[in-house]
Amino acid sequence: MNNGTILVTGGTGYIGSHTVVELMQSGFEVVVVDNLDNSDACVIERIGSIVGRKPTLVVADIRDVPKVTAVLQESRVDAVIHFAGLKSVSESCTQPLRYYDVNVVGTLRLLQAMAEARVTKMVFSSSTTVYGNATAVPITEDAPLNPACPYGQTKLVAENVLRDAAGIPGSNWKFAILRYFNPVGAHESGTIGEDPRGVPTNLMPYVSQVAVGRRSKLSIWGQDYPTKDGTAIRDFIHVVDLANGHLAALRALAANGDKVLTVNLGTGRGTSVLELVSTFSEVTGVPVPYEFAARRQGDVAINFADANRALKTLGWKAELDLRAMCRDAWNWQSRNPNGYASQG
Ligand code: NAD
Repeated sequence: MNNGTILVTGGTGYIGSHTVVELMQSGFEVVVVDNLDNSDACVIERIGSIVGRKPTLVVADIRDVPKVTAVLQESRVDAVIHFAGLKSVSESCTQPLRYYDVNVVGTLRLLQAMAEARVTKMVFSSSTTVYGNATAVPITEDAPLNPACPYGQTKLVAENVLRDAAGIPGSNWKFAILRYFNPVGAHESGTIGEDPRGVPTNLMPYVSQVAVGRRSKLSIWGQDYPTKDGTAIRDFIHVVDLANGHLAALRALAANGDKVLTVNLGTGRGTSVLELVSTFSEVTGVPVPYEFAARRQGDVAINFADANRALKTLGWKAELDLRAMCRDAWNWQSRNPNGYASQG
C-alpha cells in the first residue's frame, strides 16, 4: 500500500519522529530532511525497528533551496509536513535573529523549493505561543494573536507568510496550520522520545530526568497562580495523538476545499503542574522531589485549547489520557536514561 510520499522536515526530532512512525504505519513513504541540529540520526534506525522499514534521511538544511528542490523532485513528494525549526521560548529572547532565520526564512526557502518542484500542500507546526497571554480559556482559533516572545512571533510571521501565499490569485497552495499545545509522552515502544539537549525547558522531560536520577529536584515555577492548587495550568497532549493530528490534516487538505486550515491541537483539558507531577509519581511509583520557585517570566497562568474545530474540520480528537502520557514518558526515559546517547 502506498498512500503517497511525504517530505517531513525535522523528522528526526521529537514530534517529527513520532509522526514519521504513524505515517509509515498508515502506508505513506517518508523522506526526512533534517540538519540534525537538535536530533540524532539513530532515530532513523529506531523508527525502522518500530515500523519494519526505514524512512529515507537526507541530512540538509531547509534553507538549502537547490538541495530541498532536488529531494522533492527526485522522491516525487506529494506533500510536506514542516516541523524543522527552533523551539525554545527563552533562547529565542537571547537569539531572536537566529530564530527568525530558521523559523521564518527557513519556511520561506522551503516554500520556494516547493514552488520549484510544484508541491503545493504543507502541514505547518505552529504553537499556542501565537496567542500570548490569552484573555479567555479555552482558547479558540479566533482568539487574538499576540505573541509574548520572539519564538511566538516567528511562528506568527510564518503563519502569515502561508496565509498570504494561499491568497495569491490562481495559486494552488493549500496549508494546514496546526497550533500545538503541550506535547508530552513517547511512543509506547519506549524507543523514541523527547531528548532535550542541556537542561530541559519543558516540564515533562524535567520530571522524568529527576525521576531517573539525572537531576536532583524539580523547580515548580509559581505557586500563587489563580488556579485550584496555585500552579499553572496547561493542556498536555500525548505526542502520538499529536502525530495522528497531522495525518488527519493531510486527509483534510486532500478532501477539503479550504486553502488554509488553522486548527488547535490540544485535548481541551487543563491540567495543573502539580497534578502532572503527582500523576507521574502515582503511575510510575517513582517519587519526584520538587520545590517551589518564583514565577518564570513570560509564563501565563492558564492555557488550554478549545479542541472543537479539530474535531469538526479534521475529524480528530486526542484519545490518550494523562496517565498514558506519564507512563510512556517514563517508559522512554527509564529505558534511555541519557536519551539517544544511552545506546551502546
Ligand atoms: P525538535 O527540536 O525535537 O525537532 C526539530 C527538528 O528540526 C530537529 O530534528 C532539528 O535537528 C531540525 N532542524 C532545526 N533546524 C533545522 C534546519 N535549519 N534545517 C533542517 N532541520 C532543522 O522539536 P519538536 O519538539 O519536535 O518540535 C517540532 C516543531 O513543532 C517545531 O517547529 C516547534 O517549534 C513546534 N512546536 C513544538 C512544541 C513542543 O513543545 N515540542 C510546541 C509547539 C510547537
